[in-house]
This record gives sequence, structure tokens and C-alpha cells, in this order.
Amino acid sequence: MISLTLAQLAQVTQGQVESVADTTLLISAVSTDSRKIAENCLFIALKGERFDAHDFAQQVVVSGAKALLVERKLEVDCPQVIVKDTRIAMGQLAAWVRQQSRARIVGLTGSSGKTSVKEMTASILSERGKTLYTAGNLNNDIGVPLTLFRLTNDDDFAVIEMGANHPNEIAYTTSIVKPEAALVNNLFAAHLAGFGSPEGVAKAKGEIYQGVPEEGTAIVNLDSYSEKWQFQPRQTVWYYSLTPQAKADFYPSDIQVKQLTTDFVLHTPVGSVDITLPLPGLHNIANVLAASALAISVGASLEDIKNGLAKTQAVPGRLYPVRLSEHKVVLDDTYNANDGSMIAAIHVLEKMPGYRILVVGDMGELGDYAEDCHQRVGVAAKQAGLDKVFSVGQLSELISQFSECGEHFTVKADLLTRLIPLAQQKDVVSILVKGSRSSAMEDVVNALKECF
Ligand code: ATP
Ligand code: UDP
Ligand code: MG
Repeated sequence: MISLTLAQLAQVTQGQVESVADTTLLISAVSTDSRKIAENCLFIALKGERFDAHDFAQQVVVSGAKALLVERKLEVDCPQVIVKDTRIAMGQLAAWVRQQSRARIVGLTGSSGKTSVKEMTASILSERGKTLYTAGNLNNDIGVPLTLFRLTNDDDFAVIEMGANHPNEIAYTTSIVKPEAALVNNLFAAHLAGFGSPEGVAKAKGEIYQGVPEEGTAIVNLDSYSEKWQFQPRQTVWYYSLTPQAKADFYPSDIQVKQLTTDFVLHTPVGSVDITLPLPGLHNIANVLAASALAISVGASLEDIKNGLAKTQAVPGRLYPVRLSEHKVVLDDTYNANDGSMIAAIHVLEKMPGYRILVVGDMGELGDYAEDCHQRVGVAAKQAGLDKVFSVGQLSELISQFSECGEHFTVKADLLTRLIPLAQQKDVVSILVKGSRSSAMEDVVNALKECF
């Protein structure tokens, strides 16, 4: 972390200093979890759904915390800065850290593929300099500050993932990150319950462009965008598309989709380059276009792109190949699902060898659009000519029904007693397992691993 004194912390958060002998006390780490206290850190007491971290103050002081950021004065022997709202103060501190950093920072949001694009962008920029990037999925109003706290004076670049399930969330995190370049990866029916409608999703994700400075770069996916988005007059706007077209600054050609890898030529405003991507699926080419645009906007070369992408690896839970035996593969895509990512994954399974089985759980958080989305996935499975669909849960029954090759189960145990013998009996099998986080479809992947 970029350090600051307690006096600076109080100034940045408009807080009041209590129980302090020495306001030049230096803070160089932050923790929000009493179970993970770094030596000499500042503990920020947040209130969550289950716990109020103010209750752990005594314990964190014993564990080595040097100061507390709290909403009320606590009876513990430790310097404290008291603020009205610790979440907001955490954001103010993160914004300050970001301002001190010399790193060139890019940000991204979207319905799907944020983590995938973040990993690719970080892989590319790491070819050029020291790059900090969001760990795992820490992409909300807590995760984004936690990520920025990890910035050091050595970082040349940072890639920040921003997620949202309600309006104004991206406006808030972007105002902290102030990315030099930013993009919305795509718009699908994700978290519709929180946004109200597809237009609501577009508006909320588009908030990211308002946070890009005047001289910055707004990057737009021509295959998934909103006419209503507005850009500032002096912003550079770069467009990308999977289809070559006059307006696209970034596009692919000569695409060769293999089973688990993809070859293509990447065209950019600074030239073209042959890419071998160690990931399956057309949607990952779209992710490369996004990552390349972000990386080039802060100085990456075509060589950085080629070399960085060659090192990219599948992220666990995102179309992650798990080999059961020589000719039997599971694509573990159990991390999450919406209609867009489900259909993208079905297109990958379509190209896989042997008997192709889709094992699918419910997609959650879709509000009034839930039935529509499940039906659409069923139709996509039918059009892909899959050999079998096994669904489990409730709404996913519609996927089975519309696929016209489906069988539905209410519990996973029953599905497994049908799936496992079938997978054992076929010589060559490809199985895609996917569903929303709430469906916990990794149970199916784990059961398959045990049986082979
Ligand atoms: P979250 O909102 O949970 O953070 P995310 O946006 O970070 O998700 P990933 O974790 O990268 O997205 O991928 C989630 C799912 O979307 C995976 O199943 C992945 O294969 C799929 N996916 C990745 N990129 C795309 C894309 N461009 N279009 C459609 N689906 C995609
Ligand atoms: N917390 C903590 N120690 C614990 C349990 C929770 O410090 O033993 C912190 C946690 O890191 C978070 C806050 O208390 O900052 C609220 O926790 P909760 O689980 O309610 O919220 P969530 O993490 O689900 O938002
Ligand atoms: Mg993510």
C-alpha cells in the first residue's frame, strides 16, 4: 500500500482523531476482517448483513492492528479515526491512494467476461511492466477499494474489474478508480432483478464512461452496446466487433476455432498480429478485442499482446477443462450463468468431440425475464444439435423442454444416477456443466471427478 499518516487519513476521510498520542503514525496496510490482520494495519470496521465489525475491535488490537477506522469511539486502547460511514471513508481512502499512484489504470465492467478480460489485460500489461489487478472477483464497493489499497509505488499498470447489481454502483466505483481507459464488455440479462430491465442494465453499466477523464479512452463493443451512451467531447472512443466493419477499430479475421484453443489475426489501430489463444470459444475472441484495446490505450505493443495472451490460462469455473480420461472432458463453467454466457458456452460445446451433454442448473436473479431467458437457452441447445441436455432445479426444466433432447430432475442425486452411467458408456464424451452461483453445479463436476 502507498502509506499515509493518521493525520492524513483523518483529513482524507473528514474524520475525527481519538486516543492518539502521535498523529504521524504511519499506516501502510488495511484490513477489514478480524481473521486476517496484517501486522501494523489500519482496521476498517464495516457493518455487513451478518456482523458489525466494531464488535471485533478488542480482538484486532490484540492481533496487532495499529489504528481503527470506526463509526463511534470504542473503549479500546488504540488510536481511532471516527467517521460517519466507514464504507464511504474506505472509498475516500482508496481514491486518495489511487491519486498518489503513478500507475496507468484501466477499468472494466459488463454482464459477462469481466474476470476473463481482466486476466487477459493483466497478462498483456505484465509483459510491459509491473501490473496490479483485481484478485478473484473483488469487484464491488468493498472489493475495488481493497484492490486499490494493494497499489505500491512500483506498479506501472493496474487493471480494475467493476461489477454491479444495482444502479449507481459503477458510477461510485469508477469515481474512485478514475480509469484512463474503460469499457463495458457486454450487456446481457444479468442481475435483471436489481436493474429492472435490459435498458436499466445498459444505463447502469454505461456509468463507467462518465468516470473516464476528458483525455481518456472509452472502448465500446459494437456487438453489445447502447445508443444512449454518451461520451465526452475530448474522449477517444474506440470500437471493437467480432465482425469486420468500417466502424470497428479492433476486429479479428482468419478465425480457426479449435476444441480448446483459437487461432486468429487481430487487427488494431496500430497494426495486425497473429494470435494463438489457449482458450476456447468465439466469446473469448471478443474478450481479446476488449483486453487488447484496454492494453494498447495505455501503451502495450502488438508483441506484448501476442506474448501476454499466449500465457493466459482458463480461469477455474469459467469453461475450465477437466479431463476425466483420454477421451472424456468436462468443461467446468459452474462459476455463474446468465443467458449470454450460457449461449456462449453452448457454442463451445457444439464444437467439442463425441457425445455432447449439457448439464444445466437454474439461472437466478432474472426477475420477470426468467422464463424467457431459460427458453432462449433451450432453443440455443436445440440449434447447436447437442446430444443430451440434463437440467436440475426448477426453471431449468424449460431448457430441457425447448432443447427437445432434455431430461429434467429436481435433485442432483437423481441427475447423477442418469449422467454417470451414460458418460461411462460412451467412448468419447464432452460434458458442459453450468448454472448460476446459487445452483452450485460444481457438485456435479466433483461427482464426475470421483467416478472416473
Ligand atoms: P461476475 O459478474 O460474476 O464477476 P464476470 O463478468 O467476471 O462474472 P467471468 O467470470 O469472466 O465473468 O465469466 C463468467 C461466465 O461468462 C463464464 O461462464 C464465461 O465462460 C462466460 N463468458 C466469458 N466471457 C464472455 C463473453 N464475452 N460473452 C459471453 N460469455 C462470456
Ligand atoms: N468480520 C470480521 N470478523 C468476523 C466476521 C466478520 O472482521 O469474524 C467483518 C467482515 O470482514 C466484514 C464485516 O465484519 O468486513 C461484516 O461482515 P459480514 O459477514 O456481516 O458482511 P459481508 O462480509 O457478508 O458483507
Ligand atoms: Mg468477475
